[in-house]
Amino acid sequence: MWRAAMSEEVGKAIQSVLERVTQAATRRPRTLPAVTPRLVAVSKTKPPEMIVEAYRHGQRNFGENYVNELVEKASDPLILESCPEIKWHFIGHLQKNNVNKLLGVSNLFLVETVDSAKLADRVNSSWQRLRGADTQRLKVMVQINTSGEQNKHGLPPEETVSTVKYIVSQCSALHFLGLMTIGRYGYDLTLGPNPDFQMLLSRRQEVCDSLKLPLEEVELSMGMSTDFEHAIEVGATNVRVGSIIFGNREYPNSATNTPNPSPNPSPAHSPEKTSKAVERTKGSDVCLLF
Ligand SMILES: *Cc1c(COP(=O)(O)O)cnc(C)c1O
Repeated sequence: MWRAAMSEEVGKAIQSVLERVTQAATRRPRTLPAVTPRLVAVSKTKPPEMIVEAYRHGQRNFGENYVNELVEKASDPLILESCPEIKWHFIGHLQKNNVNKLLGVSNLFLVETVDSAKLADRVNSSWQRLRGADTQRLKVMVQINTSGEQNKHGLPPEETVSTVKYIVSQCSALHFLGLMTIGRYGYDLTLGPNPDFQMLLSRRQEVCDSLKLPLEEVELSMGMSTDFEHAIEVGATNVRVGSIIFGNREYPNSATNTPNPSPNPSPAHSPEKTSKAVERTKGSDVCLLF
């Protein structure tokens, strides 16, 4: 019973989000590259069964922000059997001591959160060692702390160009794909375009100017459940959407498990806090919604 309900819910949600993605893309100004935005379904804290359901409805890109959880899911027998073409995105804070573990994930598609030249170095050498010289380069994005909030990870915006230059010129096993930001939560769009997204756009312009790269070759990962349409309208090529596909996340025995009666995700739940919550509740991650 719950399975059928879950399948229908996830399938409908994916379809509705995809329609909204397509609609938003038509509202982009022509000055922006006409790239079809990629929808990343953020499945953190959700069980493999839900990922399989989304996959059956055509979804291929999935995002996780905790290394152990991603490793577990990527090697889950059900997922291995049912989702041969899955593309994993790592979207959480990456610590150097976790790099090898992360890069061992099969079907790892993109690491969105490289936030220093040192980390890029580590990822680069680890990928060379693990995968040998003849395999594909690993796609990475550089995460920028556009809001400047101290509790947020990401590179200070003014270091964007030098870091991208470093990756492009010194990290031969990496394929620089673009820039990523989380940004501040709960921004009120009636005040105008989200300044975090505008900041990412202007840093991309700078990167393209100084490295002589075409705009369409530098992607922008920005926008989540509450603001992915706006993000696409201003140029996102990659949106990371969790709660409106899989339902709100529940964290048993966790301080962040405050009641949230609204059907919309609470902006107070920062994804980075969330990953710590997952860490604390490891092993008891259950889906309480379906
Ligand atoms: C959890 C998370 C998301 C998805 O957030 P929703 O509000 O559930 O769509 C997107 N990006 C990152 C980095 C996250 O950790």
